[in-house]
Amino acid sequence: MSYGKNAKKLAKFVPLTGLAQAALMDARVVEAGKSKIAPVLKQRTLKTLTRAVGVGLHSGQRVEITLRPAQPDTGIVFRRVDLPEPVDIPVSTLAVTDTRMASTISSGNAKVHTVEHLMSACAGLGVDNLYVDITAEEVPILDGSASSFVFLLQSAGIVFQEAPRRFIRLLKPVEVRQGQGDTEKWARLEPYHGYRLSFEIDFSHPAVDSTGQRVLFDMSVDSYSKDIARARTFGFTKDVEMMRANGLALGGGLDNAIVMDDYKVLNAGGLRYDDEFVKHKILDAMGDLYLVGKPLLASYSAFRSGHALNNLLLRELLNHPDAWDVVTFDDEKKAPKGFAQMAHAW
Ligand SMILES: [Zn+2]
Repeated sequence: MSYGKNAKKLAKFVPLTGLAQAALMDARVVEAGKSKIAPVLKQRTLKTLTRAVGVGLHSGQRVEITLRPAQPDTGIVFRRVDLPEPVDIPVSTLAVTDTRMASTISSGNAKVHTVEHLMSACAGLGVDNLYVDITAEEVPILDGSASSFVFLLQSAGIVFQEAPRRFIRLLKPVEVRQGQGDTEKWARLEPYHGYRLSFEIDFSHPAVDSTGQRVLFDMSVDSYSKDIARARTFGFTKDVEMMRANGLALGGGLDNAIVMDDYKVLNAGGLRYDDEFVKHKILDAMGDLYLVGKPLLASYSAFRSGHALNNLLLRELLNHPDAWDVVTFDDEKKAPKGFAQMAHAW
């Protein structure tokens, strides 16, 4: 479906740019308590808290996370509870301070590494508001995918809140590009009435060549929990030695990553999906993009992108205020289809 066909319908949505409109929005949020906003268009948080213990992929450090409910419009806030004074790190595009190997967010000297898989699960399940108490500086890798986080969030239960979800809606395409020829990579966001991601990788490795190099995921027709969340992170044995020498991948192994030598996958159980590699890139991109702080109404496409380029894309978006606005929906029929289906995913 083209954006143009929806232009008429979209005109009735509530555009929210500028302070005056933000003030109007606050009035709407208060009203929402009594209004008949369809549940699929309301913000969501957890019903109760839940905990997990694991190790950081890169640090190898033991870490405990506690996921807790948060008030409407809190967003997702990581809290370093191991520091002498707890430090809150709300997710945002500009809070991303390091994108080597993983996405790191910071506030002052306090950091949290490898936030992307947990953020991806929140994006996939539509969790808007959440506190993540964490006892070290890296999110546990668990099984290397987002499925453990999906399980945690679903076990705690997801509840609707009396405030409308606010979406960042693309109005114009935004793109970032780097390199040329063999090193070319790019990522793009375009207007789309829903949320769709298309990713292409270009790895010359027998285990990767034999599987898909490109995947398209659309919230309106595909299931995040089934189709994307189980895809694990991956690495090559030849890189592991170099990474460990640099203090990385210290917690990595066959139980939390797909590991390949020059010829094949070394994990005894093989792959979870034929195209698990590129699906993990979609999983990562969903987590990286959700660091913008709100769900996107957009079509994302990327070639060889990664954490760094995904964050650059968000910065490019924020640098072009004419390329997006913030909208809410008070009529389920006008909401993007995929977001309505998410309500039934759990
Ligand atoms: Zn990843």
